[in-house]
Amino acid sequence: RRILICAGTGCIASGAKKVEKAFQKALEERELHKTLEIVLTGCHGFCEQGPLVIIEPEKVFYCRVEEKDVQEIVESHLINQKIITPLLYQDALTGRNVETYEDINFYSKQERTVLRNCGRIDPEKIEDYVAQEGYKGLKKALSMTPRQVIDEIKRSELRGRGGGGFPTGLKWQLTAEAAGDEKYIICNADEGDPGAFMDRSVLEGDPHAVLEGMMIAGYAIGAQKGYVYVRAEYPLAIERLQKAIDQANAKRFLGAKTLQSTFNFTIEIKAGAGAFVCGEESALIASMEGQRGMPRKRPPYPSTQGLWGKPTNINNVETFANIPAILRKGAAWFSSMGTDNSKGSKVFALTGKVNNTGLVEVPMGLSLRDIIMDIGGGVKDGKAFKAVQIGGPSGGCLPEELLDLPVDYDSLKKAGAMVGSGGLVVMDESTCMVDIARFFLNFTQKESCGKCTPCREGTLRMLEILEKIKAGQGQEEDLKKLERLAAVVKKTSLCGLGQTAPNPVLTTLRYFRSEYESHIREKR
Ligand code: SF4
Repeated sequence: RRILICAGTGCIASGAKKVEKAFQKALEERELHKTLEIVLTGCHGFCEQGPLVIIEPEKVFYCRVEEKDVQEIVESHLINQKIITPLLYQDALTGRNVETYEDINFYSKQERTVLRNCGRIDPEKIEDYVAQEGYKGLKKALSMTPRQVIDEIKRSELRGRGGGGFPTGLKWQLTAEAAGDEKYIICNADEGDPGAFMDRSVLEGDPHAVLEGMMIAGYAIGAQKGYVYVRAEYPLAIERLQKAIDQANAKRFLGAKTLQSTFNFTIEIKAGAGAFVCGEESALIASMEGQRGMPRKRPPYPSTQGLWGKPTNINNVETFANIPAILRKGAAWFSSMGTDNSKGSKVFALTGKVNNTGLVEVPMGLSLRDIIMDIGGGVKDGKAFKAVQIGGPSGGCLPEELLDLPVDYDSLKKAGAMVGSGGLVVMDESTCMVDIARFFLNFTQKESCGKCTPCREGTLRMLEILEKIKAGQGQEEDLKKLERLAAVVKKTSLCGLGQTAPNPVLTTLRYFRSEYESHIREKR
């Protein structure tokens, strides 16, 4: 029998470590510590209900557990088999208490592939990962030729989960075919979107999956060295990742003669200082080389001229975490999930005015309505839905009419938004959409590195217009100016940050224009 206690950053912040100590004490007092195991896991995803405690094998799910509740769980549940109803999750829509993990809507509609081990294993024990078929994907890869591995990833049709959606297999192929003996793998863990914590949770909850994905990529492209570029603001992720690297080294999954093959691969962590623009791959490389984190003109792309001028393959955390299962279960398994052009599943950070906030992983193609109304349990406090901002600060705001839109790369792009790295912010009827556009533009404007004029000056001018409108001093022609500026910034900015920064303004103008107009009409 096991007691799983969520020890992701969210639950630790709400008291998980105190709950763990209380369990240790209570189990010892009742001499249950020899038969019951306490497992500190990574994030379960349901952060707002934390600290979370799951009792196995019955999978009873207790939420918002405090130190004072532990004695009762031990006495009542563990000794007398009586479930404690007030500690169960209460469905926001039906008011019903739900006993088990699998019966909670938040979990039952999800397809947890990347998050499969998060909340289930102790991320600090390599044995737990290996027991869940960990490193089997690497073993399989090493029994194939590098070209066969690349072909398998190409057949899976996995696309990069960091925002761009570039085909992963093709990216690997380009780096493998690039001239040069020295090549690098970089894992981009510079997650900087407001409200997003997908990468952090995967690194905290299942770090070996990311390392295994990087090793497979290293073998496929012929690299000997990998780096994880991770924000210094993620201390727990860095700590667990370093432990995982040390354990993989000790077990010889990493280092010389990996698994009796001649493949020799090492991984190092590089902590970034937290500039949003360093998520852009050329800025990330500049930062790793010790220069100021600024994007540069491409081509040449990192696949031919990356870190230290050598061919470099960069994928984000979620992309790498998908790789081991593709090797283990095969490309056909992966491509059976999702839509024609967007295969597999995607992790989203569901936040804002929604009942169930947290991390959700769904098959590509599920509708926004299913994610927000079903998994998310609908809008908070019985208010009406107004909009959802999808794709991070450079994504778009979509209205209620588009709630049935399938969440995939192409449908979202057509609607003016994007999958992005996976931020999903829900807004209710009380939200001012001009304010929202201003909030996101203010973020990207402040994070602009200033290298190119359209992004540096254009976003600032757009922000000034938005502030003028918000202050009741806007004029009809300001909307046209905004649209013209947005088009120029999109078209002429050097990197993705500037090219997508106008999206929140453009989508709010497209779907919520009347709100801008009423701000202008209601002049002071
Ligand atoms: Fe820097 Fe913005 Fe230009 Fe990108 S688009 S290089 S962030 S100024």
